Amino acid sequence: MLKNTQLEDWDRENFFHPSTHLAEFARGNLAQRVITTASGCHIEDSAGNRLLDGFAGLYCVNVGYGRPEIADAIAAQARELAYYHAYVGHGTEASITLSKMILDRAPEGMSKVYFGLGGSDANETNVKLVWYYNNIRGLPEKKKIISRWRGYHGSGLMTGSLTGLEAFQKKFDLPLDRVLHTDAPYYFRRKDLDQSEADFVAQCVASLEELIAREGADTIAAFIGEPALGTGGLVPPPAGYWPAIQEVLDRHDILLIADEVVTGFGRLGSMFGSDHYGMRPDLITIAKGLTSAYAPLSGSIVGDKMWKVLEQGTDENGPIGHGWTYSAHPIGAAAGVANLKLIDELDLVSTAGKVGAYLKGALNDALGDHANVGDIRGEGLLCAVELVEDRDSRSFFDPKKGVGAAVNAALLSRGVISRAMPQGDILGFAPPFCLSESEADEIAGKLAEAVREVL
Ligand code: PLP
Repeated sequence: MLKNTQLEDWDRENFFHPSTHLAEFARGNLAQRVITTASGCHIEDSAGNRLLDGFAGLYCVNVGYGRPEIADAIAAQARELAYYHAYVGHGTEASITLSKMILDRAPEGMSKVYFGLGGSDANETNVKLVWYYNNIRGLPEKKKIISRWRGYHGSGLMTGSLTGLEAFQKKFDLPLDRVLHTDAPYYFRRKDLDQSEADFVAQCVASLEELIAREGADTIAAFIGEPALGTGGLVPPPAGYWPAIQEVLDRHDILLIADEVVTGFGRLGSMFGSDHYGMRPDLITIAKGLTSAYAPLSGSIVGDKMWKVLEQGTDENGPIGHGWTYSAHPIGAAAGVANLKLIDELDLVSTAGKVGAYLKGALNDALGDHANVGDIRGEGLLCAVELVEDRDSRSFFDPKKGVGAAVNAALLSRGVISRAMPQGDILGFAPPFCLSESEADEIAGKLAEAVREVL
């Protein structure tokens, strides 16, 4: 392996890192970390550090690192057939098998899978399919998409617009038009602390109704949402939220896109978040957990109702004009098949539910009565600890203080990776599903030390 200093120089000189303060990186003020190897829930870097990855990369290495079953499937596929395209009806054993495996596991009423590469492009596909659908139905005015503040749907032009976090839009001339935002179902951050959960849900529903009335249902095509908010703060919805939203959408002929890039394939302790929360989506976005990040692959699962209209559209207009070179890439598909088999064989979906409950319990035991811990929440292996300046009044720290980032750094110095979520002092935990109880205890114990060091 090359010397660390050589790699660090090349890194600073050549590599444009995503989501990075470019100037600080160039000045050498940001930590450079060259990751070399990984196994189970741990990664190692070239400086010899071994770190417990409490965020599974970017909540994507769901089955854990170093699984030979997936590595072997990828190698075998590369030797046998590294690539062929999927245009005009071409397929491979891996892509065809994977489409069946996905639909066997998907919520009811789903018809077909369109394969892409990552969550962003899958959501771009979904928006195009929604527009196409309404054009074929003779409703060319019905095109706007409603998303939620704090939603995250990717970094593309449209998906960056749907994202409800300013950091991903600033100076990029986003959002584009045809995008509307409504309330985030973030009960912990409700304005009126006396408001019941049921009243809060009713308020979310009322603001959605107001938005639809203001814009006109005949201009609104779809609503997109993550079953549980991810990047916007790792927030499971309050009880009854999704059925209540679903009722409004059905009444106004508005499609539902469930963005299951994070929640799909087990992270909440159910195969899909849609089933977990009683959503009935028309489109489902999948990525990360589909291959556990062993290869880039995403998908748009299209429901029966839309599929019929898409077929009709091609009868009227010819082949659908949407495709990527790497749609259904055989290596990604082979990784997906091996990954889903492994999830079944090791019963990792129910494991995620059980270990997730254990982790939440351990976090509560370690930090539940700390004066600056406002909320410990989670569903399955999607957990968050939200820090507050004052627990009783629920006042938040001045964002400029960077309290969440400081705790994150203090935890990292103890060998545990969490994610300081981009908005608010929120430490996120979304480890691989193979997390052991002792690793969960380690996360909780070291987080408690890090919180005490900073606060
Ligand atoms: N949708 C959700 C809910 C996500 O969390 C992400 C990424 O974190 C995306 C879409 C975008 O996926 P990608 O980064 O693979 O483009």
